[in-house]
Formats: sequence, structure tokens, C-alpha cells
Amino acid sequence: MEATAAENCSVKVAVHVRPLIGDERLQGCADCVTVVPGKPQVQIGTHSFTFDHVYGSTGSSPSSMFEECIAPLVEGLFQGYNATVLAYGQTGSGKTYTMGTSFKDGCQTGLIPQVMNALFSKIETLKNESEFQLHVSFIEILKEEVQDLLDPTSVNKSETTNGHVGKVAVPGKPPIQIRESSNGVITLAGSTEVNVTTLKEMASYLEQGSLNRATGSTNMNNQSSRSHAIFTITLEQMRKHNPAFPGDSSLNESMSEEYLCAKLHLVDLAGSERAKRTGSDGLRFKEGVHINKGLLALGNVISALGDEKKRKEGLHVPYRDSKLTRLLQDSLGGNSRTVMIACISPADINAEETLNTLKYANRAR
Ligand code: ADP
Ligand code: MG
Repeated sequence: MEATAAENCSVKVAVHVRPLIGDERLQGCADCVTVVPGKPQVQIGTHSFTFDHVYGSTGSSPSSMFEECIAPLVEGLFQGYNATVLAYGQTGSGKTYTMGTSFKDGCQTGLIPQVMNALFSKIETLKNESEFQLHVSFIEILKEEVQDLLDPTSVNKSETTNGHVGKVAVPGKPPIQIRESSNGVITLAGSTEVNVTTLKEMASYLEQGSLNRATGSTNMNNQSSRSHAIFTITLEQMRKHNPAFPGDSSLNESMSEEYLCAKLHLVDLAGSERAKRTGSDGLRFKEGVHINKGLLALGNVISALGDEKKRKEGLHVPYRDSKLTRLLQDSLGGNSRTVMIACISPADINAEETLNTLKYANRAR
């Protein structure tokens, strides 16, 4: 039923079309996006795109997105596979709603709360065979700087001398650094990583970080639309002696039966409206004004990963081009599983950005 990691190298892409929202209705916007019934296909104007999954505003329950796209990643964590979920789209397209990182919408239908539920249910069923440890971290990348959304000592300042707005590290605290160990594991030095033992605890950290992010953003127009927020869950698993896993042929080395560690990054990306796609070859995103470095680099990394031929030729995957791709390096490509959810508005006034989003997502496949 489930594809092996080797078959899963490229990125799975789903599209989430939200309904028209209040503002758009007030402005009398028309719905310009069509979801082809029974097919993972969307149409806008004369353009038609096919993805792995398409979730429209009607006819699909929020839990089907979780079951089809995200549940396999949670399962994979228990086998030691890292994973990344990326919500991509213009500001207002539903990224935060889809991920469930905002609490103003009563986010129980969002993906992260469902991930947490699935994780703790699975742990419960395995508790006689294994011991588990869970950690979470929640960071934000803004202007190529990593900020800790769980840092209890960080303060929100309205403005600093260099014009930066938002959370400012306490003086004397070294900046958060992305490190790579000799075996390719990426870690963050200097950010808060908390142990959690219950669902409630994990949810409270998600809430705390989300609130921190929101507070920072009230000081400047939409700061959160320009930052990437990354909620990371790390699962450590120690299998008890004589593990009862007769059917699991993927684990035939005695060493790997004892200890497994995997992480899941849940990423609410910066608004894509600043990542304009240019270049006639369609292969590379070029820098423009106000460009978001992370989104450009992510597009290039994902495109390089998806290109079987180039990968076989040992093509350089440009992880180092941004903090975002650097941080996600060990959880994109290789054995890890990646799902990109392209969020779009159906409103005609957003048609141009929607088309850009669909093109970006299409390039990821
Ligand atoms: P983004 O994070 O991409 O900027 P949001 O998630 O904040 O966008 O969504 C923008 C607005 O649209 C919010 O008011 C949100 O409640 C609403 N919204 C987004 N997706 C949906 C959906 N699937 N159903 C109903 N309302 C939605
Ligand atoms: Mg948002």
C-alpha cells in the first residue's frame, strides 16, 4: 500500500482551494478556480494543472487531506524517516488555516493538531514495545535570521536601531545557528527545544509560539507574511528488548532496531507574492525586488530533487542558498518525505498570484 522511501524521493504536491472569504464577497469577487470533479485537477482561465491531490472548498473533508497526505509522514517517523510539510501560497490564501498554527480560527481542523493526535495515539499503541521521547521547537526565519518562538526570555520590541521589527534576542544571547554534524544531521544551536510528554503540553507550545509570532507581527504590517514559521516535532524511539516486530522487514539490522530518531518539520512559509518567477528557461527563479530568499532557494532545491536525471548525474542541490533550505536539508530529499500544500484563493482578483502558485507547485512535481 505504502510506497517505499526510494520511490518517494520527489515531493508530493496537493492544492488546497479555500472558499471565497468575507472581504472577497463584499468586493463582489467571482470564483475563477474550477476543481475538476473526481480528478486531482484544477483549472484557471485556459490553464489546467494536475497534482497528487486537490482539495476544494466543497466535497472534501479536512480530515481527508490529513489522511491522504500527512498521516503517511507521521507513520514514517516511527520508522525513522524525516519529513517536511510545506504550506505555500500568497498571503491570505489559507496557509496558516491549513497548517492549524493560528488559534483565532479554532484550529482543530488544521493539520498540526491532527498530526499531534495521530502521534500520541500511535505512541499509545506502541508503548509496550518502545519508549518514546518527544521534543518540539518552534522558530521563525525572517530576513535570513532565525528567531526562537519558544524562547521565554525573548522580548518584543516595536523597533530597533537597524529598523528590524519584532522579537529581539536578549543582549548577550548568541544568535541561533544552523549546524550540520558529520553524518549530515542538521541541528539548531541556541534555540529552545522542549521535551513534551502529553498532547496538551505539545499543543500549548504550538499555541505559545503562534502567539509570539502574532505579537511580533502587529508591530509591522504583516511581518508574519514575510517569515517562515517552522514547528518541528522530533520523535526518539528506544525499542525494548525482544521487540515484537516480526513483520517489519525494513529493520533487519540489530542496531537500528534499538534506537530511532526522526523529525517532522511543519512549515508555514512566507507569502509567495514576493517570489516572482522569471527567466525563459523556467529552470531557475531569479532574484527580483523584495524577493524572499528562502522561497527562491526552496523552489530550486525541490526542482533539483524532482529531476531524476539530474540527480543521477550528481547534480548539486543548492541547499546552502538560504537559511530555510539549510535548515530543512536533512528532511528534504534522500529518504525523507515531503509534502507541499499549495494554498490558493478562488477569487478573480487573485488570479495572477494563484496562477503563480500553481506554476511553482507544478514545478515541484
Ligand atoms: P495565510 O496564512 O496564507 O496568509 P490565512 O490562513 O490567514 O492565510 O487565511 C486567510 C483568511 O482566510 C483567514 O481569515 C482564514 O480564516 C480564511 N480561510 C483560509 N482557509 C480557509 C478555509 N479552507 N475555509 C474557510 N476559511 C478559510
Ligand atoms: Mg499566515
